[in-house]
Amino acid sequence: MVRKMHKNLKTYLSENLNQTEADQRLLLVIYAIVESVKQVAIMVEQAPLAGQLGKLIHSNIQGEQQAKLDVLSNNCFVANLQACEAVAGLVSEEVDDAILLARDDTKSNYLVVFDPIDGSSNIEVNVAVGSIFSALKAPVGRAAQATDFLVKGAEQVFAGYAIYGPSLVLVLTIGAGTQCFTFNRTTGEFILTQANLRVPDDTQEFAINASNARFWEPPIEQYVQECQAGTTGVRGKDFNMRWIASMVSDVHRILMRGGVYLYPKDNKVPIKAGRLRLLYELNPMSMVIEQAGGAASTGRAQVLELKPTDIHQRGPIIIGSKNEVERIRSYHQDFDQLPRNKNNNPNR
Ligand code: MN
Ligand code: MN
Repeated sequence: MVRKMHKNLKTYLSENLNQTEADQRLLLVIYAIVESVKQVAIMVEQAPLAGQLGKLIHSNIQGEQQAKLDVLSNNCFVANLQACEAVAGLVSEEVDDAILLARDDTKSNYLVVFDPIDGSSNIEVNVAVGSIFSALKAPVGRAAQATDFLVKGAEQVFAGYAIYGPSLVLVLTIGAGTQCFTFNRTTGEFILTQANLRVPDDTQEFAINASNARFWEPPIEQYVQECQAGTTGVRGKDFNMRWIASMVSDVHRILMRGGVYLYPKDNKVPIKAGRLRLLYELNPMSMVIEQAGGAASTGRAQVLELKPTDIHQRGPIIIGSKNEVERIRSYHQDFDQLPRNKNNNPNR
């Protein structure tokens, strides 16, 4: 049973967006994304029945082999967003170049970035996957260009994600706190089930792909060793490790109960600064977590302050409970200030 006191997404948005042209057109963008989420949820659920699991032969721009659902879900988002008159451009994980759309540039338009399926390697094993998205303001008085996407994440006006898990949940922020909605299949509505979420400042859970340990920098090594030492080490408390391997699901757990998620810079593939993508993975998740009182850092800078140079650029991330992220940032600072590192200190 759905408790009556809970409001639906439409009511939440009408109460929290203004009657301005800019906000009312942002509403159209959010609805186009929500429609995509509802459709992708059905695709994910039905994929084994429809023969839509498995990989395709070709790869995306990241050199990663695409799953059938990567392509289908991308097509769904692209179609819904192209049909929205307030969307002037798109960047998708699955499309090499920005998709620019001819729109009335005297009006308030938006640029949307998205990862249509995050964690697609988990689909085969029936583990939760999700979609990640955010919106930036498009320029007024001229057509949008690909370079308009290359602004820091702090410029995002809307960010969120969906998780296709035991429940279909939609987490979003319009810059006024972070809200969690749950889909009611009976009514076809998203219902606000947790308002103004807060990530606890402290935690006893961390999430990292420990198989990369030999590629980590010393500050990450130090942090993880201290967590593992538990009550016998400097932390004086035991930690648990969790790793779902869908960033969206790992970060959702942190939003719900605290923790810290690390995909740090490592030297596994030295030309990559990190594994995850800045525009449509790191930035939206960072806005969601910061709006809930958490923090997101590369270890050396705030994620939302990074100025992208490429729409598909990668970056490191340490995200979650504030005090934990700050601790890890300070370990990087201490490490970079050691005399032996003065030639490769990225802050100089
Ligand atoms: Mn992803
Ligand atoms: Mn993806």
